Amino acid sequence: MTLKLYNTYSRQVEPLVPSNPDGVVRMYCCGPTVYNFAHIGNLRTYIFEDVLRKTIKRAGFSLKHAMNITDVGHLTSDADEGDDKMVLAAEKEHKTVMDIARKYEDTFFAHTKALNIERPDVVCRATEHIQDMIKFVEKLEEKGYAYFSNGNVYFDTSKFPAYGCLSGQRRDDMKHGARVETDDNKRNSSDFVLWFTSSKFKNQILQWDTKWGRGYPGWHIECSAMSVKHLGSHLDIHCGGVDHIAVHHENEIAQSEAYLGEKWCNCWLHGEFLQMKNDEKMSKSKGNFITLDTLIDKGYLPEAYRYLCLTSHYRSSLVFSYENLDAAAAALKNLHNKYLEFKNAASSPVTSEQEKQLLSYQEQFNSYLFDDLKTPQALALVWTVVKDKDLPASLKLKFLDSADEVLGLGLAKAQPQQSEEVVLSEEIKAKLEARKQARINKDWATSDAIRDELAAQGIVVKDLAGNEYEVTIR
Ligand code: AMP
Ligand code: ZN
Repeated sequence: MTLKLYNTYSRQVEPLVPSNPDGVVRMYCCGPTVYNFAHIGNLRTYIFEDVLRKTIKRAGFSLKHAMNITDVGHLTSDADEGDDKMVLAAEKEHKTVMDIARKYEDTFFAHTKALNIERPDVVCRATEHIQDMIKFVEKLEEKGYAYFSNGNVYFDTSKFPAYGCLSGQRRDDMKHGARVETDDNKRNSSDFVLWFTSSKFKNQILQWDTKWGRGYPGWHIECSAMSVKHLGSHLDIHCGGVDHIAVHHENEIAQSEAYLGEKWCNCWLHGEFLQMKNDEKMSKSKGNFITLDTLIDKGYLPEAYRYLCLTSHYRSSLVFSYENLDAAAAALKNLHNKYLEFKNAASSPVTSEQEKQLLSYQEQFNSYLFDDLKTPQALALVWTVVKDKDLPASLKLKFLDSADEVLGLGLAKAQPQQSEEVVLSEEIKAKLEARKQARINKDWATSDAIRDELAAQGIVVKDLAGNEYEVTIR
């Protein structure tokens, strides 16, 4: 079976074909800026990347996966504006910048572990790769892509004609800096800083000597320098959240391809945002965010949040509400209980027909994952298998163990819990109505997509005459 993924660059679903002769898939994911806790929106992106990582391996590929830790250089705007995030946090918490970085990095990995997210093969800190970044910028300057202006080194986007190719914007239309502040040192508004020496942050503690003067790197350069260092010059996959498409990833492409003189990354994957109920973006800088600890303190299993994320496709935005989380938590409890029931069931002989059925379910499960990570459909299938009256407990257990290698719902460590009824929340009712409307409009794709999302939440819809429907809760 071929693994196919949606490539933001080509806007198409494409088969994954490793580009390096050793066949190892090289994947780079933009990591956390460690000036605060990762919020559950950030964690949605890392859950998606974890599902991707495990699916790549499931499809039989070897994988080398790297992720950076941004512990220097990220300003409050992605486009070289605002304040330095790390410096602000250190001032606020009366700690050193490095104390802040390590504190939030440790918490980040505690949270990802609790969510059964595997640690990438390479975790690289920006502050430990400063010399690599300096060399990278020096080469860009030698090749004529970088210029020194009033103390800072900038990337000249006019020298890179493909600038804007990922987001489909024309360079002239990009008005970086238009909203907040303009930098008169730039030749073009889309140019960006590679190295700061004339810092507006006199209190910037982390600084390094370079031929341009003492200073610190711009935010974007770290990903290009560390990716080339750890994964070589050809990346197969690069991931991040959708907010990175327009600035950060455009800049990464420009720097890396200018440096390498050839195409750098084949496939770009972006996770859609987790939204708050009132349509607001969950953001660290705005302070309106929920952490995993908030959910744990309220009594939720971390896996309940993972379950919620899996009920929606990574390219669809997901609205967070406690009602939605309650529905996911109830479905997860029921699944844990079913798992224990199958584990404790007396063994019965298995027929070849049943073995065949298991195989067919497993293939179906893989085909959903291999089709651009269709987790809602994969979860819905889990419930179909659980409910299959003709499949013995031992085979259901086998299916669930294998499925959980990717889903990561903690089935093997399940504890007996009071089963819960999945209630029809306002969101679920709205989805049912949206599906009805889609059927009236003969929009079968939307209606099927909503049905799968509902099924993943344990809600089965049966269509009746006249666009009416009947709902069963598992
Ligand atoms: P940051 O630590 O801010 O650099 O972000 C870490 C990752 O989370 C990046 O891949 C972002 O694109 C992603 N991200 C930021 N906000 C959200 C959100 N509300 N929902 C999903 N992903 C997000
Ligand atoms: Zn990056």
